[in-house]
Amino acid sequence: MPAQIIDGRKIAEEIQEELKRRAAALKERGITPGLAAILVGEDPGALSYLRQIERSCGAVGIHYELVKLPQETTQAELLATIRKLNEDPKFHGIILQMPLPKHLNALEAQSAIAPEKDVDGTNPVNIGKLLLGEEAFCPSTPLGVVELMARSNIDPGGKRVVICGRSNIVGKPLMAMLVQKKKGANATVTVCHTGTKDLASITREADILVAAMGSAHAIKADMVKEGAVVIDVGVNAVKDPETGKTKLVGDVDFDAVKEKASAITPVPGGVGPVTTAMLIANTIKAAEKAAGM
Ligand code: NAP
Repeated sequence: MPAQIIDGRKIAEEIQEELKRRAAALKERGITPGLAAILVGEDPGALSYLRQIERSCGAVGIHYELVKLPQETTQAELLATIRKLNEDPKFHGIILQMPLPKHLNALEAQSAIAPEKDVDGTNPVNIGKLLLGEEAFCPSTPLGVVELMARSNIDPGGKRVVICGRSNIVGKPLMAMLVQKKKGANATVTVCHTGTKDLASITREADILVAAMGSAHAIKADMVKEGAVVIDVGVNAVKDPETGKTKLVGDVDFDAVKEKASAITPVPGGVGPVTTAMLIANTIKAAEKAAGM
């Protein structure tokens, strides 16, 4: 039987409606949640992602500002910008767009973001708390994966979850979230990477398979167990052989895998919209915390 297609756009709209109500409750107390995005350089992909965030902020009622710094910004200038935003009460959330130019130290910059404003969960303080199972700001993509499953009635508890990809923004934090002894987690988690031998033999054991590799259509139908839930985080630009135009595809061979999975996320329209919604949710959470709510 073909899989249930998980509609990330619809889930993101539901979340957005809830966030509008929370933003309105803050406004009644005279607080407008604020998000600052720092971009060093002119990467068109990053600008397009940030425009999407700006639109979502506008829809929910969050003040958004893009702080654009030139490519040749020094580490000292970047740190000074972050410290200024840390001190600015207009902003409850700060995100630092990656990747940074090679001459800049990303970890030092991420560590400089005040943990209570670190709405993308990149400060080692938040990463450490996440690992310990403490209340923390979590990175928005893995948070989106967890939320998307919860709202689709997919409980990872007791399931074998296989995550393909061990990046610091997706694979590792998702592993840390799903392994916790908590409702909506409590899974047995395996993380795969390029050092993994016989990837297919491991992915075939997954009740829930998460692909976050950045490799177009790498997960084929024969790598998926019948009835598995398949969450595709990947976003890859490929040339459509029929039209010659560039299109976005996931890490999963969607058309083939959907015939085998019980539920699957499409690309685009799966994890992506929920990721943006979770960043906005974290910003509202930061504003609520700052207001003592
Ligand atoms: P990344 O930093 O490049 O990490 C990719 C990970 O996948 C690495 O751990 C790599 O292993 C592993 N990998 C790559 N090819 C593999 C293969 N053939 N077999 C097994 N493991 C493999 O990427 P990322 O930032 O996590 O992003 C992953 C994908 O998600 C990208 O397509 C990105 O565009 C997308 N993404 C989407 C969202 C969203 O909101 N939808 C957000 C963030 C990222 P090694 O560690 O051994 O190199």
